[in-house]
Amino acid sequence: MRGILIRYRHLLPLTSKTPLVSLEEGSTPLIPLDSTGKDLGIRLFAKFEGANPTGSFKDRGMVLAVAKAIEAGARGLVCASTGNTSASAAAYAARTGIPCTVLLPGGKVAMGKLAQAMVYGARVISLKGNFDRALELALEVSRELGLAVVNSVNRYRLWGQRSVAWEICDELGHPPDVVVLPVGNAGNITASWAGFVQYSRIGKIGRIPAMFGVQAEGAAPLALGKPCPEPETVATAIRIGRPVNGKKARWAVRMSGGRFLSVSDGEILDAQKRLAACEGVFAEPASCAGIAGLYRLASQNGLSTGKEYVAVLTGNGLKDTDAATSGKRPPVEVDAELKAIREVLL
Ligand SMILES: *Cc1c(COP(=O)(O)O)cnc(C)c1O
Repeated sequence: MRGILIRYRHLLPLTSKTPLVSLEEGSTPLIPLDSTGKDLGIRLFAKFEGANPTGSFKDRGMVLAVAKAIEAGARGLVCASTGNTSASAAAYAARTGIPCTVLLPGGKVAMGKLAQAMVYGARVISLKGNFDRALELALEVSRELGLAVVNSVNRYRLWGQRSVAWEICDELGHPPDVVVLPVGNAGNITASWAGFVQYSRIGKIGRIPAMFGVQAEGAAPLALGKPCPEPETVATAIRIGRPVNGKKARWAVRMSGGRFLSVSDGEILDAQKRLAACEGVFAEPASCAGIAGLYRLASQNGLSTGKEYVAVLTGNGLKDTDAATSGKRPPVEVDAELKAIREVLL
């Protein structure tokens, strides 16, 4: 499908001068989660965004943001990041030969993501502060040095991210009843909703799914309705206390007939384990907040039996193996003999 800019060019703000950048992002699998759906009494699919080139949905928006930055003559890119934005920005910067600077909240970025930013060749700066502060500084740096900010304050990022909604409808042949997403800066839930709205305006679909946004209990400003000065959660990709797109997201969720809710870190890790062990799908902790949210709702009789749900699994589990393996028993070690294996298995 050759990437988002080609597949959906008629729905994106491209001009004859926009370079058709591509790492073949998008066109990710829509995987039926039969076991989980049966458990919950719903029809459930996972949109597996971990299959994008850098392992998260950020590529959908980044490809357009970088193409537009190049079109506008930007001297480079800058972003603040909990990890996946920097991985994606660094990859598209490498692809197009534009310099990229990333500001990371010190010590709170999963190792796989940090490795990506480093190996793609970005300038990586670790800050003694949290994500919200890193973003303030990214905006200042961009003004001073003439760099394009590729965080989700960038409207092209959000526009490119609409493509997940288009793909879900194209694949199912209709809109699902409910779409559930993890929420950090709340750009993705806003963008997905805008994607459904755009599809309905051009007559591709007749209704908009209810958008459910799930936050981690320790970083739940939208679920609680107040900022969270010291966000904390194992799901580092959604460890955000002041969501940049909070206002737009509240509007989107209300208009769609959806809601925000929060789940504990324990529920997130249980959902991650269940998805991997019962479905064969390994997603990073933040991604699994959505599934944890469905379990929470099921326990409160908050799900509509028989309806069709799509959970967007935003990032690949391989990015953060520490979170996934902590507390798990390491493999048993035995002599390299058949007898020893037999003793373990029988
Ligand atoms: C960025 C990210 C999120 C949060 O998306 P927002 O647009 O900030 O709400 C969720 N999950 C993963 C894996 C991410 O990388």
